[in-house]
Amino acid sequence: MSIYQLNNKIPKLPGLTDTRRAALANSSIIYIIDLLTYFPYKHVNRSEVLTTQHLIADSHTGTIQGTITSINETGFGNKKRLEVILRDSYGEVKLTWFRYYPSLIKSLQVGKAYFVYGEFKLFNRSYSVVHPELITPETFKANQVSLTGLKAEYSTNKFLTKAKISSTQLSNWILDLLEQSLIEEPLPYSITKFIDKPFTFSEALKAIHAPKNEEQFIQAKTYLSFLELFEFQLMLKLTRQSPEIIQKTEYVKPLTNTNHFLSGLPFNLTDDQKKVFHSIRNDLKSGKQMQRLIQGDVGAGKTVVAFGAMLMAIDEGYCTCMMAPTEILAEQHVNGFLKFTRNLGLNIAFLAGSTTAKERNKILTDLANGQIDALFGTHAIFQDNVTLNNIDLIVIDEQHRFGVEQRKALVEKGNSPHILLMSATPIPRSLSLALYGDLSISQIRQKPKGRIPIITAIRTDDKRHKLYEFLKTEIEKGGQAYIVYPLVEESEKIDLNHATGGYDEIKKRFPALSIGLVHGKMKSEEKDKEMNLFKEGSHHILVSTTVIEVGVDVPAATVMIIEDAERFGLSQLHQLRGRVGRGDRQSYCILMVNRFIGKNAKERLMTMVESDDGFYIAEKDLELRGPGDLLGTKQSGVPSFKLANIIEDVDLLEKAKKLSDQLLVDDPYLASEQNKGLKSYLALRYRDASELFRIG
Ligand code: ADP
Ligand code: MG
Repeated sequence: MSIYQLNNKIPKLPGLTDTRRAALANSSIIYIIDLLTYFPYKHVNRSEVLTTQHLIADSHTGTIQGTITSINETGFGNKKRLEVILRDSYGEVKLTWFRYYPSLIKSLQVGKAYFVYGEFKLFNRSYSVVHPELITPETFKANQVSLTGLKAEYSTNKFLTKAKISSTQLSNWILDLLEQSLIEEPLPYSITKFIDKPFTFSEALKAIHAPKNEEQFIQAKTYLSFLELFEFQLMLKLTRQSPEIIQKTEYVKPLTNTNHFLSGLPFNLTDDQKKVFHSIRNDLKSGKQMQRLIQGDVGAGKTVVAFGAMLMAIDEGYCTCMMAPTEILAEQHVNGFLKFTRNLGLNIAFLAGSTTAKERNKILTDLANGQIDALFGTHAIFQDNVTLNNIDLIVIDEQHRFGVEQRKALVEKGNSPHILLMSATPIPRSLSLALYGDLSISQIRQKPKGRIPIITAIRTDDKRHKLYEFLKTEIEKGGQAYIVYPLVEESEKIDLNHATGGYDEIKKRFPALSIGLVHGKMKSEEKDKEMNLFKEGSHHILVSTTVIEVGVDVPAATVMIIEDAERFGLSQLHQLRGRVGRGDRQSYCILMVNRFIGKNAKERLMTMVESDDGFYIAEKDLELRGPGDLLGTKQSGVPSFKLANIIEDVDLLEKAKKLSDQLLVDDPYLASEQNKGLKSYLALRYRDASELFRIG
């Protein structure tokens, strides 16, 4: 079967009636490829025979050998059913059929031994199985029945169940299809030579649906997971404009301004900063468009690196701009840039929502005339009437605040400028690859020198008096403290200390201190007022819910106490801890917990104690919680794969990215003869995204 034919409707198969076809279609199984990639959710080892003693969970799928002790037909008409009791040395199970032919009853014999395969479910304190497979020991021994090896189990939904399409039926159809024809290999040799893959696409499909043994299954799964990740990486690059195919003029001029800026910095760049800086330089020299993402925790020092990149563009004679999501941030950037480049005589402009029409017009004229070196501002920069033809490098700060579509629009604006994106949300490499597979990614993990690491500790409730003593001394030394609670209102079910209750307790405990309270139920003026009192040092302690998570900067705060810390996610704990340690004094983060917390919670909190590396913590978070929960990744577009698991298969993901990059460098439109199969395969795998699909 050619790749192209995979996109044909499922052909005639035994038992595939129109009704059943419709049920499949309702489950998005329409074309051959859909059925072949309807992967089993598990395999059960059928050659292993259980006894009724093994049945301890609510449900257990497997084979039991026993002797029939009774056969009964009960009910009439629709209610008619066949009930058979099977007994082994330990107990008995009930076998039930709601639909059956008279021949079934004939084939059953009281006193005879059988193997029964199916899902045994606990019901009214005894196990029963509906529509089991029944095999006599003779056939079982003769190995005529597929009772050996691993049997695939397919999930069914209400459409499939209603049309009486069982897991076994799906399995039969899939194996029939695979028997009928050999499927062409979608991957070209230039890729397959890099994967240790002992079989072809066809074989891999066969092996995943009906593996002979565990090892074969794992190999097939690895191959097909790679294929899934590889095709996804290619899709990302082909639908968003791939940097590999956008030609740019190479940067060649001496770095006069850049070097001046670097030598004037009041600190040395960290090794990570230097590394990113060199990557950027190489990108700009390459003659291809740069699309690079810098990830680094808040305070990691991304901005200076971006300034350096902007100066490289200026040295080359181009205009460059930096965009930030808010005007305050944009102002902070322009002031920083001015400070570091004071002596260079550059033309710098600022464009935001507050810019007057007159100023705006002047800036636009200057921009069109190439008279501006660096432009700073908000998304006002990218309004339609702004000509970006002279801009050769665009920096976007806090890129996650802008959508993928905006990014795409930018890439295509003007003369396809180089794009440098910055993000302060540390996300695990595997997630970055899945989300931003089309970008080059740089991470700044090191913190600049001179920052005092925050001391993090876990304390149980019975040490509370000690905690308060410590708090008192810290405040006497001039520090301030946050106390954060997970909930605002008391829940009837869970007896949590809540913010208002905690506030009352703290007030009682420290009558001489000024204590503030903020929570989500307060009006924002009230909140701001309390927050400002804390910021200016009038409040010593701020009791709050997680509303303080974003955007608060109080350098004098040295203590962060998190109550019921086991109730917070890791990334959230890391964000909260980042509220302290911003000044020049030792800071502390104390995680208050109940004495009895779960293993998972303990591991989460220990991660906090052991590390202040946002990336490591995000990796752990991903590992402990799964990708769906992390940072609300559902909305941020983390793809869901059928087989691949972006946590476990990060190595495959890396490989898929590397090989897909390579492939597109050699053949950007997949136009060559040897990539034809792959191109058709992609087109059918992503047929729903065809309007995005701009290849060829
Ligand atoms: P972010 O990565 O959150 O954008 P910034 O770029 O704003 O962080 O940097 C935070 C602060 O650290 C700034 O005041 C910046 O000047 C300073 N900084 C940056 N790099 C270094 C360094 N290598 N050594 C010391 N301080 C640095
Ligand atoms: Mg920043």
